[in-house]
Amino acid sequence: MSTQNFRSILTGSFSTPCADNPTVVMIEAAYRHAGIDARYINCDVTAAHLADAVKGAVAMEWVGFNCSLPHKVAVIAHLDELAQAARIIGAVNCVSIRDGRLVGDNTDGKGFLASLRDVSDPAGRHVFLLGAGGAARAIAVELGLAGAGHITVVNRDPEKAATIAALVRDNTGCDATAGAWAGKARIPAGTDIVINATSVGLGDAQAMPDVDLDTLASGQVVADVIPNPPMTRFLREAHARGCTPLDGLGMLVNQGVIGVELWLGKTLDAGVMKQALRDIFGASDA
Ligand code: NDP
Repeated sequence: MSTQNFRSILTGSFSTPCADNPTVVMIEAAYRHAGIDARYINCDVTAAHLADAVKGAVAMEWVGFNCSLPHKVAVIAHLDELAQAARIIGAVNCVSIRDGRLVGDNTDGKGFLASLRDVSDPAGRHVFLLGAGGAARAIAVELGLAGAGHITVVNRDPEKAATIAALVRDNTGCDATAGAWAGKARIPAGTDIVINATSVGLGDAQAMPDVDLDTLASGQVVADVIPNPPMTRFLREAHARGCTPLDGLGMLVNQGVIGVELWLGKTLDAGVMKQALRDIFGASDA
């Protein structure tokens, strides 16, 4: 019998549209770098085909897959178990398949947290969060679970901000308040970490969330979820005012690292992943 093995470990992503999702590039670069014979298949899966896609992954013995829009909530109906953060957030973007059992987790917030920890421990810190969509929700819950002292959420639609603040208060030990975002947002004195979790700045190096930049304070960490371009105008302005900027590439890369740890129990090289993204985004090291 041959000792050669022509069977790769299978992982991937289900979303639609999927053609602009760069995750495959960063994960396959890191698989190659680690000498792991695994593939990450970027699949265009419509809502009508989600159930069949999940069954197909189980049938083909995939070890796990990511879920992106529009499946993050709908996929839950097809799973056997949810990790704590996914249960609180109410959305899953990473599924592990073990012995035919499907376990859902949410790595959006965990990826952000891992990236944040490179520059600051959020325990006891006061956080000002701009936006109340899916990314903000995941980040707020993970910051709450990580022991943040207080989170203020502001959003154009204040009801969505209030929902997230209540979610944090009810499910973590962290206090949280919500506010409406009308006109220029002012960062309250005593804020340690400011986060842009809106989509403002995606694909537009000049766009910036409507914030009174004079209320930023030197020494604050200012983070952006936008991965492309990584150095958003908000981060450039914050850096010029003595703040520590944290780009959205780290969040994306750490989500990849955490997902593969869940699937394979192996930690991929974050530097290789980041470089793969920089290559496709055409970003410099700045
Ligand atoms: P959602 O559509 O769920 O939420 C979008 C948020 O942005 C809402 O709070 C919305 O406010 C706000 N918003 C949009 N336009 C404006 C504006 N002009 N002024 C103020 N607020 C605005 O998106 P997600 O939360 O899923 O994603 C948000 C961003 O995060 C995306 O750009 C995405 O690329 C990025 N992201 C990055 C990740 C990473 O790994 N780096 C991971 C996940 C997401 P309102 O509710 O009032 O409409």
